[in-house]
Amino acid sequence: MRQLTCVSAGKLEWREVPEPALAGDGEALVRPLAVARCDIDRPLASGLVPLRGPFALGHECVGELIALGGAVRGLALGQRVVVSFQVSCGGCGRCRAGHSALCERLPTLSDYGMQPLSGVEYGGMLSDAIRVPFARAMLHPIPPSLDPVELASVSDNATDGWRAVAPHLAASPGAEVLVVSHGVDSISLYAAQAALALGAGRVDFASADAALLEHAEKLGASAVATDLAKPPRSYPIVVDAGLSPAGLTYALRATEPEGVLQSVSYYPGGAVELPLVRMYTLGVRFRVGRCHAAAQIPEVLKLVEAGRLRPGAVTTRVVDWEEAPAAWLEPATKLVVRRA
Ligand SMILES: [Zn+2]
Ligand SMILES: [Zn+2]
Repeated sequence: MRQLTCVSAGKLEWREVPEPALAGDGEALVRPLAVARCDIDRPLASGLVPLRGPFALGHECVGELIALGGAVRGLALGQRVVVSFQVSCGGCGRCRAGHSALCERLPTLSDYGMQPLSGVEYGGMLSDAIRVPFARAMLHPIPPSLDPVELASVSDNATDGWRAVAPHLAASPGAEVLVVSHGVDSISLYAAQAALALGAGRVDFASADAALLEHAEKLGASAVATDLAKPPRSYPIVVDAGLSPAGLTYALRATEPEGVLQSVSYYPGGAVELPLVRMYTLGVRFRVGRCHAAAQIPEVLKLVEAGRLRPGAVTTRVVDWEEAPAAWLEPATKLVVRRA
């Protein structure tokens, strides 16, 4: 079968690789139908971290079930499913606690399409089939009426945006939210969209990027054009979504005393300074960590099925399958590749 492969930094090509096969009766094979590009994909394929040789690309998709192990209950061949980008078992202590990103049975950062991070190749979704080792935990059926292109990002980024605000809005219903976007484009938009869907009293979106500000306004947020120097006011819930220490500092300064600062960011390249004296004095609750895709995707799908969340509104470019090698490294806020 064909698999889009990053052969070296910035160089992508289709490669012929062996078709995956079921290796246990709790497994499934999925044929990806629509694959969204995660905010980390471009930096990763451009050599953000040292590459360990060629690796398969793509970790957000809706696909079709093409094979099922004999012990898998509640799923059917031909069904369309959102696939968790993180590989997790669903049965260990951490998975059962909802911390599926930290599954005890697998190496840390066990994800599709991100072999440079974990060192393990689980395959990539820009291929004709992927093997899903824990089908019941990792696959989430969607109704046939929903478009795979609209929902491909639920595997990761749309869910990441949801979890950035959902627990904090549940604790403080109707609270006002600020999303600080400084380099993690689609996740910041999904966070704004989720905050609106979950009844935030107001959602402000701070960024230096005019196109992103315009996009956020279309989703219903209020644009705050900023050079990330000084926030105009403070908020009880702030989302830090970016790559620059200046953006994090801005987000911290925008957090109210005893407010929550949720970071969805990965700061590569070593230590980042935090103003702990300020955080201590004001009681800023700083929360950082990855989303737990397998555990959280069902909550996002409930909102989608209720018509309250439309992840497709964040998509800025859709290309055909054959265009993937050329399009994958192009700039676009949210790219989706669809199979013909
Ligand atoms: Zn991702
Ligand atoms: Zn587990």
